[in-house]
Amino acid sequence: MIGIVVVSHSRALADAAVGLASEMVAEDKRPVIAVAAGLDATTFGTDAMAVSEALAAADSPDGVLVLLDLGSAVLSAEMALEFVDPSVADHVRLSSAPLVEGLVAAVVTASTGASLDAVVTEAERGLVGKQDHLGDTPTVEAEPVVEPDRSLEIVVSNEHGLHARPAARLVGLVNGFDAAVTLTNLDTGKGPVDAGSLSMVATLIAQQGHRVCVGASGRQASEALEAIETLAAAGFGDEPAPDVRSSTAGGSGLDVAIGPAVLVGSGVDVSGYVAGDNELGRLEQALETAGEQLRVLRDTTPEHGDIFVAHLALLGDRKVLDDVRASIAGGASAPAAWQQVYDDLAATFEGLDDAYQRERAQDVRAVRDRVLRVLVGASEDAPADGILVVPELDAATAATLDATRIAGIAVRAAGTTGHGVIVARSRGIPLITGIGDVDVRPGATIAFDARTGTFEVAPDEEHVRATIAERQVERDRAVAQADEHAITRDGRTIDVLVNVGVVQDAVDARGADGSGLVRTEVLFGDRRTAPTVDEQVEAFRAIAQALGNKPITIRTWDIGGDKPLPFLPQAKEANPFLGERGLRVFRRRPELLRDQLEAIRRVAAETPVHVMFPMVTTADEVAWALDELGPRDGLEVGIMVEVPAAALRVATLAKDLDFVSIGTNDLTQYTTAADRTNTAVASLADGLDPAVLQLIDHVVRNAGVRVAVCGDLASDPQAAVLLAALGVTELSAVGPQVPLVKARLRQSDLSQVDTAAVLRARDADQVRGLL
Ligand code: PEP
Ligand code: MG
Repeated sequence: MIGIVVVSHSRALADAAVGLASEMVAEDKRPVIAVAAGLDATTFGTDAMAVSEALAAADSPDGVLVLLDLGSAVLSAEMALEFVDPSVADHVRLSSAPLVEGLVAAVVTASTGASLDAVVTEAERGLVGKQDHLGDTPTVEAEPVVEPDRSLEIVVSNEHGLHARPAARLVGLVNGFDAAVTLTNLDTGKGPVDAGSLSMVATLIAQQGHRVCVGASGRQASEALEAIETLAAAGFGDEPAPDVRSSTAGGSGLDVAIGPAVLVGSGVDVSGYVAGDNELGRLEQALETAGEQLRVLRDTTPEHGDIFVAHLALLGDRKVLDDVRASIAGGASAPAAWQQVYDDLAATFEGLDDAYQRERAQDVRAVRDRVLRVLVGASEDAPADGILVVPELDAATAATLDATRIAGIAVRAAGTTGHGVIVARSRGIPLITGIGDVDVRPGATIAFDARTGTFEVAPDEEHVRATIAERQVERDRAVAQADEHAITRDGRTIDVLVNVGVVQDAVDARGADGSGLVRTEVLFGDRRTAPTVDEQVEAFRAIAQALGNKPITIRTWDIGGDKPLPFLPQAKEANPFLGERGLRVFRRRPELLRDQLEAIRRVAAETPVHVMFPMVTTADEVAWALDELGPRDGLEVGIMVEVPAAALRVATLAKDLDFVSIGTNDLTQYTTAADRTNTAVASLADGLDPAVLQLIDHVVRNAGVRVAVCGDLASDPQAAVLLAALGVTELSAVGPQVPLVKARLRQSDLSQVDTAAVLRARDADQVRGLL
C-alpha cells in the first residue's frame, strides 16, 4: 500500500485533514499518513527537514504521495527530496491535488491497495464532485467507463444519501473485486461513472430514495454486484434511525435465580480437536457455516441486525483471513491459527484510542468463538433457563441478550454501578455481581440470591424454589399496588420514578410517577451518527407518552468514562472518569448540546419536561449551561450532583435551579476514589458508605430546592427508605424495582429511622446493620 505525506503550514490544519480522511476507512485498512506541518504545534511554516523525515516515515515500496497546501510547502517538499535517499525520492510524487478533497480521495483509494498512479489520479480528481455540483467546469476529465455485462438496480436508503463515508465504503468494496463497476443515478440521469472512484461517485449526488443502476463487467462481475447489493441493503454501513418501538424483552424482575450454569466469555474449549490433513478446507467450511448462521441472525433479529452485519464484515475481512491461511500453511491447525489471529485482532482493538472502537473487541471475540464452535462441533445454544456466568458485563451484551431464555446472570466481577449491570437490572434480569473465581462447571446447577448476596453451586433446590415463590408473591403484590402513591406511615409522599435508557424501559415501567432520569447517551448509544433534533423529539415524546405524560427528566448527553458515544469520538485519557465527562465535553463542542436542548424545548411545549445537566462541578458550568439553554418557558431545570465538590457547594450551584438530582453511582466513586468499573476496588464503592450519606445529607439540608436521587442506590428498597428519611422527596429507580421501592416506602415510618446513627456509622456494613 502506498504511503501519504501531508505538508502544510499549520499543524492543526494537517491533523484535522488527516482526521477527516481517516474517518473514511477502517483503521486496519488505512495507509500510513505522515504529517510535516507547522514549525511547531502552533507556529505556521514549513520545514524541508521535517518533510524529509515524514517521507522516510511514510516510505513504502509502492510509492509515496505528497499532498501540500500553499507556496513554500511546495518549495520545502522539493527541497526535502534532495535530503532523502535517492531510492526513496525516486518513488515520491508531489501532487497539485487540493489538500482536503485530495487527501480524502487518496486515503480511500490507497486503502484498496491501488497503485501510486491510480491514487494520484483520484486525488487530482478530488474537486470533481464539488465542481460538478456547483456547475463549474471540472478541471480533470473523467475517464471513459467500460460498457457493463450485467447490472442491477439499488435504492439509496441512507438518510443523507450516498455521502462521503458510505461512498467511501462502496468504493473500498468495489476496488476489492476484479471487475469494472459503473453507477448511474436513474433519478437524475447522472452517470455512468466509475464506482471505484470516490470523486466520480460524488458527482452522482445520489440522495435518499434515489434509484441507482449498478453495472459490472469482468471476471468477478457477479460477485461485485452481489456484494454491492448487500452493502446497499445495509444502508452502506450507515446507521438507520432508531426504532423506538424495538423491544427489549424482560426478565422476571426477581433477585433470585436457579438454573444450569452457562459459561460465557471463557472462550471455546478446543483441546479435543484433532487436526487433519486439510485444515484449510475445514476452515473454509467453518467460515461458510458461521456466515450462514450470521445471515440468519441478521435477517431474523432486525433490532440487532447491525451487530450481525458487523460480525459478517469481520468474518470476511481479507487481511485477517490471509493471516489465518498463512498460519495454517505454516503448519498450525485451523482452530489454533484462527484463535491466534483473532486474539491479536481483539488486542489491537483494545489498544485503540477511541473508546467505541475499543469496545468492538467484544465483537471480534464473538466472531472468533463462533467459528471455533463450528470447528470443534460445539453447540451455540445456551440451555433454556440457564444462568449465564460471565467475567464482566458490558452494556451492549446486557442490552442484546435474550432475557426470556435465561434465568439470570452471575457476574464474576464485583461492582453494581457499571452500565452493563444497570442495563441488565433495568431489563428485570435476576443478577448477582462479585461471585469471584468460584469453580463452576458448564451445566452444573447453580443458584443465587442477590438480596442476601449468596451464590451456590449444587444448592438445596427445594429451598431456593421456595424463596423464588415467596419473592414472586411479594413482587406480584407490589405490582398490583404500583399505581398507588408511595405514602409512608408517617404521611410523607415520595415520588418514585423510573430511569430510562431505552424507550421500552418507559413502556415496561409499572407504577412510575414519571421519569427522574432519561439517559440520552444510552438512548442513542448505538448510533454511529448524531441523531437529528426530530429523531430526539420522537424518542422523548415516545417516552413521555409511555409514561402517561407524567413529567420526564431528560439528562443532556453524559458521555465519557464507561459511556462512549460513537458519533462523538474522544481522545484516550489516562483517567477517563476524571476527564472530559458529561457537561465538560460540550463546552468545547456545544453544537450537539444545542441540538439536544432544542429537541427538549420542543417536547417541553407538549408535555411536562425537566432538563438536567450531568457532571457539574462549578457555578461557572451551571451559568454556562443556563446560558446555552436560553429562555426556560416553564421548563424545570436542574443539575446532577455527582461530584463531591458540587455536593459541598450545592447552595451556590442550585441558586438559579428548580431541582438537583443526586447521582449516587458517580458520587460514590468520586467520594471513595474507587472507579465504578474497577472490580478490584468494588467493595470500596458502596453507596451506603457513611461518607456518601453525609454528602447526601448536606445536599438535602443546603440545596434550597427539591432534591431527588436517580443513582442506583434509589433502586434498593432498603436504601430508598433511608434516602427518604434523609429528606429526599423523589427517587428514580430501574423499572422493575419501582413497585418494590414503593411497597417498602408504604410500610415504613420515616420518623423511626435513626438517621443520626447512620451518619455517624463506622462503615457501610454498620449502616446495613442499622437499617
Ligand atoms: C449516577 O452517577 O448515579 C447516575 C445516575 O448517572 P450514570 O449512572 O448514568 O453515570
Ligand atoms: Mg453519573
